[in-house]
Amino acid sequence: MMTQQPYVGRFAPSPTGRLHMGSMVAALASWLDARSRNGVWLLRMEDLDPPREVPGAADDILRTLEAFGLTWDGEVVYQSQRHALYDEALEELKLEGRAFGCICTRKELASVSMNGLYPGTCKAGLSEGKIPRSWRFDMPKEVQSWLDVAQGPSAVSGDVLGDFVLKRADGHWAYHLAVVVDDAAQGVTHVVRGEDLWTATAAHMAIQQALNLSTPEYVHVPLVTNEQGQKLSKQTRAQPVSPSDAAHVLTSALRVLGQSVPVLDEPKIMLQEATASWDVSKIGGKSGQLTS
Ligand code: GLU
Repeated sequence: MMTQQPYVGRFAPSPTGRLHMGSMVAALASWLDARSRNGVWLLRMEDLDPPREVPGAADDILRTLEAFGLTWDGEVVYQSQRHALYDEALEELKLEGRAFGCICTRKELASVSMNGLYPGTCKAGLSEGKIPRSWRFDMPKEVQSWLDVAQGPSAVSGDVLGDFVLKRADGHWAYHLAVVVDDAAQGVTHVVRGEDLWTATAAHMAIQQALNLSTPEYVHVPLVTNEQGQKLSKQTRAQPVSPSDAAHVLTSALRVLGQSVPVLDEPKIMLQEATASWDVSKIGGKSGQLTS
């Protein structure tokens, strides 16, 4: 008899604003995928970038999820309290020769790099006495591929990412390193998140390989765009979702995800029905506007 691997999913918002329709779609998709497979659903607050964070946003996101019935298992994990783990991972990457120190400033890089990718300036090592400003990952050029149930067979060449930053010159940890370390530390087996992170998956897989960590299954769900075709975000002034309108919000989110939509009812009942009929293969990889 085959034993099934236990399912561990997660939602990992950055507290840069309140929960809008785009983040709601990602949260709902990962919650439904986990619950429909009797899985665990974890909540991790990605509060690594204080300059971009909004005071009160983390609590507001948690209260909103709860009000919609998207409850999580265990304690919320805060990345701001996990710096020691990221440090350990960086030390390991240095030992393996996969992380290198860089003294380039943003301005210097902007003047030499035409495509925004790191030109390799410090890759061969720094001269005596130079102190690294940031740390970068030696990204292999090879193609990373995975089967993404929503997007289909996926392949991203390492060239597209270049040698990205692991620890920034201002001392902050980069998302790519922290997300890989935490997904592994929390035993995450399934990552369901927005399509905007599809390319980033190649960076995450390369770090996993360098640290000898297993790769979860990745599914990237459609983004929601506004009338101008822009991704909903704080920058595009996306409106927060309101729990007082939960049934309509859930209906719209399920439509974006290509799912059958239960009749309007208590959010709890709608979630039960949506869990029962959840079909990840119906998602499809097309970002688009809300239809109602
Ligand atoms: N914190 C990231 C964001 O809010 C998502 C990270 C992830 O799901 O991997 O965009």
